[in-house]
Amino acid sequence: MTLPRYKDIVDLIKQGNTAEAQKQILALREAALELQEENAELKEKIGRLEEELKDRLVFEKGVYYLEDSGSKEGPYCQRCYDKDTKLVRLQDDGDHWFCYGCSHGYPKVPYSPPV
Ligand SMILES: [Zn+2]
Repeated sequence: MTLPRYKDIVDLIKQGNTAEAQKQILALREAALELQEENAELKEKIGRLEEELKDRLVFEKGVYYLEDSGSKEGPYCQRCYDKDTKLVRLQDDGDHWFCYGCSHGYPKVPYSPPV
């Protein structure tokens, strides 16, 4: 789909070619409608995928894991996911997990307050 350009339509009107200008405006309207429909479909698809992802996401000891038919992937950064809905894989840094996305570190064993 090639969209008629606004500048071309203005030029047509300036040239007094209103019939062609009208044709182009109609084509532009049709294209806008198609894009609106496509946009709605994509939003719906994103919503579905986000729901699917939420179902598979497990919060464990301060970090996220993705569960997929029995196997577990990760860990992923809690901060990046909760803030930007981004799954950023954490890097093994000895006794910490480290996130290159937000430079946040997570202790592998969560802090437990003294009893
Ligand atoms: Zn992060």
